[in-house]
Amino acid sequence: MEPHINDLKKAFGDRFKEHEPLARYTTFKIGGPADYFFDAKTRDEFVTAVSLGRKSKLPIFVLGGGTNVLIGDKGIRAFVIRNSSQGISIRGVKGTMESGSTTRTVFVEVDAGVPMNKFVRFSIEEGLSGIEMQLGLPGSVGGAVFMNSKWTKPEGNVGDVVYQATIVTPTGEVRQVSRDYFHFAYDYSALQKTGDIVISVTFALMQKAKDQLWETANSSISYRRETQPQGVLSAGCTFKNISKAAALTASTPNLSTSAGFLVDNAGLKGDRIGDAQISEKHANFIINLKNAKAADVVELIEKARKAVHEKFGVELEEEIVRVGEF
Ligand SMILES: Cc1cc2nc3c(=O)[nH]c(=O)nc-3n(C[C@H](O)[C@H](O)[C@H](O)COP(=O)(O)OP(=O)(O)OC[C@H]3O[C@@H](n4cnc5c(N)ncnc54)[C@H](O)[C@@H]3O)c2cc1C
Repeated sequence: MEPHINDLKKAFGDRFKEHEPLARYTTFKIGGPADYFFDAKTRDEFVTAVSLGRKSKLPIFVLGGGTNVLIGDKGIRAFVIRNSSQGISIRGVKGTMESGSTTRTVFVEVDAGVPMNKFVRFSIEEGLSGIEMQLGLPGSVGGAVFMNSKWTKPEGNVGDVVYQATIVTPTGEVRQVSRDYFHFAYDYSALQKTGDIVISVTFALMQKAKDQLWETANSSISYRRETQPQGVLSAGCTFKNISKAAALTASTPNLSTSAGFLVDNAGLKGDRIGDAQISEKHANFIINLKNAKAADVVELIEKARKAVHEKFGVELEEEIVRVGEF
């Protein structure tokens, strides 16, 4: 056994794995093996894995739900920690009097590994508003904060209701940071630059009637079913939408900022390389029909990017995160 992984082996036994195939941990079902792998089931296990990984000088990659990643066919030369921590707790309530009635803000602390759908359902059942439109968003709370994941009808970003979080820095320091730290923007949080890892997130939610919350959540689900391909292997939207300024400059049809619309109008709906295909239903989704390789997806991405650039003069940026060796 290599000496630098002794501590990890000692702490986690057979659950600490070498050469673990990663495709099964992603919604794309694509990707080669991780050099080292551990699936952390609790917050304590996650913190220990990060800390021992850092001590062992292993590069670390955190996998949440694996719903927004494209892992290379040759895998990842790092210690991949899958975060399956599950804790949710109400931390406090703050009331403010406004025109005679009290409005209550409720602070909910959620482990970063909690599936977004579990957190959203918990909030609705507790009569707490701010996150209900995200019902149906796959992946974990950590991934959703990293990406500042969003929904359009009604509009909402996960970052909008973040109050504070506990993070670990690349040097191993555990810090509590407030919302400002994240610099949330479209598809962006500062985590993408800092390399910090989120342990837990505290959200500030407002009290609201449960039936109204379910109405919004169910309408999100219906719209998702209408517009996105269902029951397929994918990593959601491939490209970010373009800015309003870029749409104006490029003079896209109806000044559309939608990446899916641009890929569709470049004639690529249904286009296929190997087993990777641009969805017939939503041109910003690439689907793994069965045995697609990461290399097929990359080729299709580049083809779509080139076609959109040639037709509209717009450079599409990827939303999915490429990781590992291709
Ligand atoms: C069918 C489908 C529909 C989708 N619909 C939407 C949608 O409506 N809106 C939207 O915005 N996205 C959507 N997505 C994309 C995806 O679900 C989101 O981006 C999601 O929030 C990613 O979370 P995850 O846990 O799966 O992240 P992963 O894919 O596991 O990881 C994504 C990135 O986050 C980082 N990360 C994960 N956890 C942590 C942590 N604890 N600390 C630091 N970094 C971390 C990873 O290292 C990686 O870089 C969709 C995807 C699919 C497959």
